[in-house]
Amino acid sequence: MARTDFDIVVIGGGAGGLVVAAGGASLGAKVALVEKHRLGGDCLWTGCVPSKTLIKSAQVAHAMRHADRWALSPHDPAPDLANVMERVASVIRGIEPNDSPERFRSLGVDVILGDGRFVAPDAFDVNGRRLTAKTFVIATGSRPAMPPIPGLADAGALTNETLFDLREDVPHLIVVGGGPIGSEMAQAFRRLGSDVTLVDVAPRILPREDEDLADVVLRQMTAEGVRFELGTSIAKVEGRRGDVRVTLEAKDGGERVVAGTHVLVAAGRKVNHEGLGLDAAGVKVDGGRIVVDERLRTTNPRIYVVGDAAGGYQFTHLAEHHAGVVLRQAIFRLFWTRPSTVVPWCTYTDPELARASDSPRTRRSSRASRTKSTASRSTRSTARAPRARPRGSRSSSPIRRAGSSARRSSGRTRAS
Ligand SMILES: Cc1cc2nc3c(=O)[nH]c(=O)nc-3n(C[C@H](O)[C@H](O)[C@H](O)COP(=O)(O)OP(=O)(O)OC[C@H]3O[C@@H](n4cnc5c(N)ncnc54)[C@H](O)[C@@H]3O)c2cc1C
Repeated sequence: MARTDFDIVVIGGGAGGLVVAAGGASLGAKVALVEKHRLGGDCLWTGCVPSKTLIKSAQVAHAMRHADRWALSPHDPAPDLANVMERVASVIRGIEPNDSPERFRSLGVDVILGDGRFVAPDAFDVNGRRLTAKTFVIATGSRPAMPPIPGLADAGALTNETLFDLREDVPHLIVVGGGPIGSEMAQAFRRLGSDVTLVDVAPRILPREDEDLADVVLRQMTAEGVRFELGTSIAKVEGRRGDVRVTLEAKDGGERVVAGTHVLVAAGRKVNHEGLGLDAAGVKVDGGRIVVDERLRTTNPRIYVVGDAAGGYQFTHLAEHHAGVVLRQAIFRLFWTRPSTVVPWCTYTDPELARASDSPRTRRSSRASRTKSTASRSTRSTARAPRARPRGSRSSSPIRRAGSSARRSSGRTRAS
């Protein structure tokens, strides 16, 4: 292999990219980390940290209102959303120094703030510098998908990227999407005093959970006053933030208008891969996803993908796990390592729903869709669909320890 400037160049400084960078540097690799916005990624700025901090305030407000359950006087705390959001911002500020460029530079990482692109299979240009490396790691994460609903963008719809900047009252929030983010935020805003209507085209919420468990959450949220419009699509949105009207279309074709003040879109995520020059690098993209094999390798064997950009489950701990898998291959040449098939997760509604991996029902349906997508891909590409195996994912490995201790010392606990 020709001489390169770096052992590892990481593109994207969120959960996955930071663990690759810190873990690689602590193991003696020469590492560059390219970030186009700010280090910390979704989890710190617009994901886990702000959402779980908001949920904590909502839980306290709820407990105060129902304090008689614990033999105390109930009290309505009349939450002020601006104050609650200021607390969210202060929690983020408290963690931010651990993910800062200064800290990563002090670990020996060459941190480059800029928006670059691949110009060849082994070269990435950023800020007028050409970076060559033995291994590149794409860790660019994902962003909220905007459904093509007429009027939605003009109505100033919020996403997780703008929600936590709110400092105004939210009298009536209309949440589009009943997945984990939509459900968590719907309950939190209701507990913080907003009227909330949750709309989903699916007949139920939390589609990855067993139906009977999701139903417990649905009943609790309904009892708290969240209104659900399930099995209903949105025909159009009119008005602007402060006064929005959402036209709902039931399966029988009937239309109804729900008036609210704010719309939050939590209806799926898109992988960030545009503008990276993947063509020049020989990295294939299929159906909006970067094609990766079971080792997280792209169609260019020196380029790996970790975290949300890998196109599977989207969790901070999975991004960190991917980072360990890639480091084992990049540094110790342990090419048999694979991501674990057992992915635990928790949805922070009240009651919380936690699980370790898919239920038999979702496993069956994902097996069916994997078979379908592998069959269709085999005519277009030689790369295989992800087929994770638990082998090589033991947390006792030095890489796992190096990576996760870097993250642990960042103070990143998910439920703050
Ligand atoms: C509201 C919400 C709540 C969540 N709650 C939880 C939770 O409770 N628990 C949990 O496990 N997960 C949660 N998640 C998911 C979690 O945030 C993500 O899975 C995790 O952040 C993914 O890490 P990542 O490194 O793949 O991407 P990110 O953390 O998003 O980092 C990607 C980084 O790449 C940068 N980037 C993008 N494009 C480029 C480019 N072209 N060049 C350079 N840099 C680029 C971005 O600026 C960003 O810094 C939540 C997500 C959301 C939205």
